[in-house]
This record gives sequence, structure tokens and C-alpha cells, in this order.
Amino acid sequence: MTNKPQKPIGFIDLKAQREFLGQKIDDAVMNVVNSCAFIMGPQVQEFEKQLAQFGQAELALSCANGTDAIALPLMAWGVGYGDAVFCPSFTFAATAEIIPWVGATGVFVDVLPDTYNMDPKSLEAAIEMVLAAGKLTPKVVIAVDLFGQLADYPAISAICKKYGLKLISDSAQGFGATLDGKHPMHWADCQTTSFFPAKPLGCYGDGGAVLTNSETDWQIMDSLRIHGKAVKADLEGRNFDHDPKYMNMRIGMNSRLDTIQAAVLIEKLAVFQDEIGKRNMVAARYNRELGGNCIVPTVIQNGISVWAQYTIELRNRDGLSAFLREKGIPSASYYPIPMHRQGPYQDFLTAPNGLPITEKLADVVISLPMHPYMDEETQSYIIASVKEFCEAQQSI
Ligand SMILES: *Cc1c(COP(=O)(O)O)cnc(C)c1O
Repeated sequence: MTNKPQKPIGFIDLKAQREFLGQKIDDAVMNVVNSCAFIMGPQVQEFEKQLAQFGQAELALSCANGTDAIALPLMAWGVGYGDAVFCPSFTFAATAEIIPWVGATGVFVDVLPDTYNMDPKSLEAAIEMVLAAGKLTPKVVIAVDLFGQLADYPAISAICKKYGLKLISDSAQGFGATLDGKHPMHWADCQTTSFFPAKPLGCYGDGGAVLTNSETDWQIMDSLRIHGKAVKADLEGRNFDHDPKYMNMRIGMNSRLDTIQAAVLIEKLAVFQDEIGKRNMVAARYNRELGGNCIVPTVIQNGISVWAQYTIELRNRDGLSAFLREKGIPSASYYPIPMHRQGPYQDFLTAPNGLPITEKLADVVISLPMHPYMDEETQSYIIASVKEFCEAQQSI
């Protein structure tokens, strides 16, 4: 029952999904190759339409990666020098990195000890701190849907409304997750995601997207992703007898989703809901069997996670990591150094009561292999190995 499986164990087994989707992906990719519409081909528009629908948003705008996806709304809203943008420190670098890109000042907020997502109390205290100092204008909150589950959007969006701040949901890990059956766009001004291959909805390279309910924001971001080209709103009441992409209305960037990636994503999105179900079965079994040995994940009430990671807490997590490696089981610690302790982020401010939960979590979290195609035998072996380690620890 708990013998080591024949096949090497993947942390995220992309090959299993590749095999499952098979010929459909080959056909989708070859259609693009044969059409030669490599940039902004019809699959890009088609995928944007389907993605918006899936995320319960009016519109979706694809781009080159999940980092640009967070930068685009900040640029579209004119966020810059003198503005404060709030985000967690317990996240992947991209969330914080784009704040200095636009010249704004980042403010790190602590997370909750159970869900690891933004602590609304720490957020409100940080906003009050910035207001009291009187130097910066609070503008935007970037909440992160860490490890696949949604942040507490009812509480966070209420704070954003109270102080007149915009809300971005950085859903690179959480796209597809819901709270009370609703996707983040029910509360947020924008939801961003990444199609990096290892994310729950990944492509075969880099890719990203922004979801919005604002046609105006969509148009400006469409302009920004293609070098600030003129869009419909820019051309109203004026004549330009050339391609509007050569009339440049703002400083933009080059951030498009390749047509090939859009074609791959159309096939992946078709099975995504089913994969979310499979991920939840794997997570439920981990919860059931490991609950007595270590701290297993807490999902926000009425939330459904997409389980980008299955993360447990253990005092001796480095010991577990080494033990699992010996047994051929990969694991990872996200994130061992929180952003506020990284050199380039020393100019960021931090919430008034510090970031004690963030600091604690960085030392105890460890993520186990998680993907929709994990077979029972493999999971049994992983569970038995984690138990073996935990039981040996307790008997010391
Ligand atoms: C992966 C990730 C991003 C960035 O996505 P890329 O496509 O790699 O640029 C942003 N935020 C979070 C929380 C992520 O996990």
C-alpha cells in the first residue's frame, strides 16, 4: 500500500496533464503554426472572452505574464509618485515589485495565521498610519490569493470603500477559486492572473491576464500593452489616416499573450473546472490523513480553493524536507524570506504592528506535491512518509 511508486514523483506533474489533453493540444498549437497569426491572432480574443466568462467578469485582457498583469491597472489608473500601494509581504516578489515600477511607495501588510492571506486589521492600521503621516496618498490595495484560496474580500473591499482605494486581486495562484460561489471580481476592481506553467491554470510558457468590469480601463490597458497605441476612446473626434498603433497616446510596454499560448489555454480552460474538483479531492485526502500529525491548511469559510499549493506547518519543516528528499518526494517552502526582509524592498513601509505572522510562517511552512492527476498510490506513499517523520519527531 505504501510502497514507493515506480515513476518519479513530481511536485507539480505537468506531464500527466499533457498526456491527458494529448492530441487536442497538438491540434490547437499546429492550427496557429499553420495560420501564422502568431501575434494577436483570433485565439487571443476568443480566450479573453472565455476567461472573462469563467471569472464572472465583463472583460478580460491577456498580456505577457502575471507580473505585467498587476502593473497594467496601476499604470492605467495613473498610480505613481506620492501614492501608497498596500500588499502582503508573504507573497511572491511580483506582487510587490511592480509598485516601485510605477514610482509609488509600497506598504507591507501582515497576513492571517490560518489562511495566510491579507489581515484586514493590519491593512486598516497601515492605511491609518499613512494618512496620519500625511506624506503619501493611499491609492490601491493588492490582495493576494495565496496558495489558491481567496483573500477575505468582503472585509478587504469594505475597507477599500471606506478609504476610497482601488482593489486588485492578485490571483496568480487563485484563479478559479471562489468565496460564497463568487469570483474576486464580485469585490475587486481588477483580478490579475498568471499562466506560468505551474500555476493552476498555466500555459506552455509565460502568460497573464487582467479581468475588469470597466470598458474604459480595458481600453487603456489594451493601449498600454501595445506601446500606448491609440484606442477607440483616443480617436474620438479626430482623424488619423494610418494604423492607430502608430499614434502613441501614452508610455506603454510590449506585453501580449502569444496566439499559441492562447490556443493552449482554450484547451486547458475547458478542463479547468474538472481539475479544480480533482485538486480538491487530493487536498481533502491530505487533510483527512495528516490532520492528526501537523497543522493542515484552513480554507476561508464558504471558500473553494484551487490548491496552487498544499501547505502544512511544522516546527521542523527543514527536517521534513530533507527526510522527504531521501524518499524521492519533492517539497518546497513558499516563501522562506518574506519580501520585507529582502534587500531591494527596504524602502517599503510596514504596517504599524509589524509583520509577526509573516515572520513566523516563513520558518514553518512546507508545501507537498499537489496536482490534479496525482494517483492514489503516490499520495499514499507521500502521506505515509510525512506521518513517519512526524511520529518519529513526537517520540523524541
Ligand atoms: C506567479 C505569481 C505572479 C507573477 O506571475 P508571472 O507570470 O510569473 O509574472 C504574481 N503574483 C503571485 C502571487 C504569483 O504567485
